[in-house]
Amino acid sequence: MASHTIVNVGYRSTNFWVVTAGRTRLLVDLGWMGMLGAMRAELQRKGIALTEITHGFATHYHLDHAGLAQELKASGMVLIITPEQLAGAAVMRQHAKPQDHHIDVVLDDAKTRVVPLASSRAFLGDIGIDGVLIHTPGHSDDSVSLLLDDGSAFTGDLTHPGFATEEDEDVVARSWQTLRDRGAKTVYPGHGSVRPL
Ligand SMILES: [Zn+2]
Repeated sequence: MASHTIVNVGYRSTNFWVVTAGRTRLLVDLGWMGMLGAMRAELQRKGIALTEITHGFATHYHLDHAGLAQELKASGMVLIITPEQLAGAAVMRQHAKPQDHHIDVVLDDAKTRVVPLASSRAFLGDIGIDGVLIHTPGHSDDSVSLLLDDGSAFTGDLTHPGFATEEDEDVVARSWQTLRDRGAKTVYPGHGSVRPL
């Protein structure tokens, strides 16, 4: 396993994680919409320039997790998105109010890589990150987790098993089981503290 570091640059009670491996800085979850200034400030507080973010991945396309996707691309970030997420990204604007200053995610520009789950290990390996993307529906159909080979799992809003409702408990339980089966040991959630799985 190549060595990497994980730093939280979250704000407004959402966690945004920077995974650094060599020259790659992968941002996991892409900020609140309209709040690029806050993202820049949080990165700076942790000694990271916005322009050092080489890649970004959203666990799902809700406005508190992917709100800055397009603006971050304009700052140089390559967006990694899976086919499962394309529909969610296309309709993200439906959750925004006009005053939110939401900027649509462009899915066919040069800064976007659509990476099928089956190719994710190879793609991530090429940028120096040993891990894989795994579809983990439950909170939303477009929820995808990043699992590093050391067991670190970035799960976004995947519902805590204890909080699943009758209607989604099966799919939530399946997603957690999949993560466990694939070697997840530590949960880096979208909200709240890092915890063992
Ligand atoms: Zn969400």
